[in-house]
Amino acid sequence: MAKDVLCEVNSCKYWAPGNACNASSIYVVNNRNKQASQSEETDCKTFESKI
Ligand code: SF4
Repeated sequence: MAKDVLCEVNSCKYWAPGNACNASSIYVVNNRNKQASQSEETDCKTFESKI
């Protein structure tokens, strides 16, 4: 379990109540391969839809 990771993406299968992430590790990438200059331009590549 990733420690000290808070995440609001509750449509992810790793998401848990309390805004926790149950993935053993996460991989964060630039959004659309463009060098990020703010947090909104980053993405969690570990995300998997629970739907
Ligand atoms: S894998 Fe990424 S998107 Fe999914 S709960 Fe963890 S931090 Fe959030």
